[in-house]
Amino acid sequence: MNNPAPKLSPEQYEQNFAELHPPFTPNSAVAEANRCLYCFDSPCMKACPTHIDISTFIKKIATGNLKGSAKTIFESNWVALTCAKACPVDVLCEGACVYNERGEEPIQIGRLQRFAIDTYFERGMPQLFTPAPKNGKSVGIIGAGPAGLACGAELALMGYEVVIYEGKPKPGGLDTWGIAPYKMTQQDSLNEVKLIESFGVKIKTGVKIGHDISIEALSKNHDAVFIGVGLAVPAALRIPGEELDGVFNALEFIERVTTRKWKSVDVGKRVAVVGAGNTAIDAVTEAKRLGAEQVMILYRRSRGEMSAYDFEYELAKSDGVVFHFQTAPKRIVGTKHVEAIECVKMQLGKPDGKGKRPAEPVPGSEFQIPVDMVILSVGQQTDQTFLSQIPNLQIQNGRVVVNHETFQTSNEKFFAGGDCINGGKEVVNAAADGKRAAHGIDKYITSRR
Ligand code: SF4
Repeated sequence: MNNPAPKLSPEQYEQNFAELHPPFTPNSAVAEANRCLYCFDSPCMKACPTHIDISTFIKKIATGNLKGSAKTIFESNWVALTCAKACPVDVLCEGACVYNERGEEPIQIGRLQRFAIDTYFERGMPQLFTPAPKNGKSVGIIGAGPAGLACGAELALMGYEVVIYEGKPKPGGLDTWGIAPYKMTQQDSLNEVKLIESFGVKIKTGVKIGHDISIEALSKNHDAVFIGVGLAVPAALRIPGEELDGVFNALEFIERVTTRKWKSVDVGKRVAVVGAGNTAIDAVTEAKRLGAEQVMILYRRSRGEMSAYDFEYELAKSDGVVFHFQTAPKRIVGTKHVEAIECVKMQLGKPDGKGKRPAEPVPGSEFQIPVDMVILSVGQQTDQTFLSQIPNLQIQNGRVVVNHETFQTSNEKFFAGGDCINGGKEVVNAAADGKRAAHGIDKYITSRR
């Protein structure tokens, strides 16, 4: 990189990446739990894609039954610590809490869930679940992300032999590699993995299906297969200069920051992030926290159309991120290294049938912004080269097509869930899919006996 930002002191890194939401103390957790009205037909529970019995787990915190509280949570969600720390609770459970209607602060469900699960791990994971005796059937899972882990946990408890194949050196998927360290640590995700492994799930890391093990062999070795591969391929912007030194993909950048070896991660003095989703916000705030002096978001549409949640936008603004709306990059300028980014202003037309306004360049409005680093966050896609190896697998708009009751694909032996079927949602949606798919798989295998 041409113009790297100076390295910070270890204390500054620790301070910049300190947790955004510190944990409850035991007394404050009980006080918050006691505010809950334990609503009948609770709207918070309905708003959670995994339908955690929120009022029950909160009641158990209030009565000091923390083990029981953790059990209630895990019964619905196997990656509950990740969800407690990284879920957009403002728009899910907490957004639905009845206190909002009264104009009062909603119950801090995410922090209470975190309190119960943190305590469970701190106490050495006391046994909560007993797997059923082995039933002689085996399921292979591709991908140890939240969907694969949830599917594996559920199947192992039903008595299945479960093997998860993961290409990366550590399991957990985006929970391990793709969440900003001021939200959660890699260890949080690995604790969840450890719990799932304690049910007998085997995880083989560093194994790429379709490369190290053929699809044919996988299909032969297992009675059913679950595809939980997420969106593995970054979308390209397709503008000149993407190959220059100093251009990064957002997930690749976040992954390096997540390993917590902050001093070894170079960041430019001036950083432009292209895109305005939640991943773009993570990347831009991480660049700032690593020591970048100027950080900016370039987005072709307006503030109202950006997909990042409001709280992510506010966090970025409070970190000093400058937002250039209706600004599209045209080319990245430089000979070997990034030196600038050339943009064009965009005008927005009338909303189409889906309410989306078309963005058109304003002729002659090109301008350059000097930058040392460009991070591209313009979306992720499924790996079509991999998916095309699975016989008779129907794909639509780049997503694996499933029956949404059973999660079975057009190849009856293969099931799928998570980002590869929904195009990229929250961890909690993947966790819900994985759990429900496990029951679809069980039904399929049982019906063939
Ligand atoms: Fe408690 Fe709010 Fe859920 Fe009611 S909606 S049960 S008050 S968290």
